[in-house]
Amino acid sequence: MFDRLKKAFSNIVKGLSEKELSEADIDKVFSEIEIALLESDVAHETIMYLHDTLKRELVGKRFDKSKDNESIVKDTLKDIMISIFNNAGTLDIIGRINSKKDREKEPYTILFLGINGTGKTTTIAKFANMLRKHNISSVIVAGDTHRAGAIEQITEHATRLGIKVIAQRYGADPAAVGRDGVLYAKAHRVDTVLIDTAGRMQTSRNLMDEMAKIVRVVKPDLKIFVGDSLAGNDTIMQAREFLRYTDFNAIILTKSDSDYKGGSALSIVHVTNKPIVYLGVGQGYDDLVPFNAEEFVEQIVEGNGKR
Ligand code: GDP
Repeated sequence: MFDRLKKAFSNIVKGLSEKELSEADIDKVFSEIEIALLESDVAHETIMYLHDTLKRELVGKRFDKSKDNESIVKDTLKDIMISIFNNAGTLDIIGRINSKKDREKEPYTILFLGINGTGKTTTIAKFANMLRKHNISSVIVAGDTHRAGAIEQITEHATRLGIKVIAQRYGADPAAVGRDGVLYAKAHRVDTVLIDTAGRMQTSRNLMDEMAKIVRVVKPDLKIFVGDSLAGNDTIMQAREFLRYTDFNAIILTKSDSDYKGGSALSIVHVTNKPIVYLGVGQGYDDLVPFNAEEFVEQIVEGNGKR
């Protein structure tokens, strides 16, 4: 995937020999790396951060011909990328759900946020399916009461999976539907409440107010932003906006299976400082996999594998 990055590494090494690295050396080296990062959809501010940090780490270091200079630069870049993911922390959702279940005997509530078309509805269905494999039951709340067809769409997924849906009519207050879902789960001892939300692009201000209201009323245990990994900077902008209004806790990136360049995963975590918990890797209900930062960085820098 980062084939260009690989090439960049072998080119730069030729310029680095037997001297202390200066800032100008790193700038020269980075100009090669930068193109590869841009082509892989890494956001501008993340590229700047990588550049600055690489400078901080390498300026003044002495390279000699007997050492493998290529891997010194490469390993430093890998470490910087891994530290971006590490800074955002990790989140064991299954552990949290189980511990709330044991401790409080209360349902664990998760709000799914994001723009229409990113794969939010499918992701909720995949998520419910994944929970079931961990012996965790769920009820789905049809919280997008705006978009024509949204209630039917989520109901269709849920019916296929044999999962209960809580819905009201179109135009109903999503916060009230969310509350209904929580009451249902409490009454029927369902472990989790998975709440779908609206995600229209226009009238963004109203949407954000609505999301903020659902958060206030439902007080979810977790807020997950669902973003499309193919949408590049749009996804980063959306994440920033949702973060501002909802302070979400975690991210799921969808469509990581098709023509995926990797840059949006790195950028979204750098910009939001929130962890990616799962990746969507296809249209089937089993196509949701836990995100592994080390594996991911290895793959983007070494250019092997798809994700
Ligand atoms: P929503 O409007 O955000 O609820 O989006 P949907 O859940 O309806 O998904 C939009 C389209 O993206 C559908 O055709 C899904 O099958 C597809 N989709 C969702 N997640 C993935 C994924 O991880 N990989 C691929 N290839 N397609 C996905």
